[in-house]
Amino acid sequence: MSVSGLPPYDDANIFARILRGEIPCTKVAESEHALAFRDINPQAPVHVLVIPKGRYVSAADFCATAPEAQVAGFWRLVAEVAKAEGLEARGYRLLTNMGDEGGQEVPHFHVHIFGGRRLGRMVPQM
Ligand code: AMP
Repeated sequence: MSVSGLPPYDDANIFARILRGEIPCTKVAESEHALAFRDINPQAPVHVLVIPKGRYVSAADFCATAPEAQVAGFWRLVAEVAKAEGLEARGYRLLTNMGDEGGQEVPHFHVHIFGGRRLGRMVPQM
């Protein structure tokens, strides 16, 4: 178990493979702490994923075990990418899915940046 109660980190997950350079991505930005790249199946005109460099399953995992500088550096890159994509004035959405009920498909902590259109309600109505 990871600190979040989710399964342990799986080194074969697709984002781990992107970080190792085994599969390509459309890179948007990179720092020593994180990598930002375009989602392969975009749900909005701008749909970028930001992932920390390291073996983190969830936000709980990342915030509990990553060095402070990496936590700060990760969120800085998220904000910088949103600004660089021209979303600051129009508005945008950050989203992170966690675990089964959260709909997480790739078990490497990541933040989605959505923008470029009116995004509607936060979550589908019950
Ligand atoms: P999540 O449900 O939050 O785990 O979302 C995972 C996201 O990763 C989805 O939006 C996928 O479209 C995206 N994705 C999966 N494989 C790739 C890939 N090779 N390159 C870029 N995005 C990907």
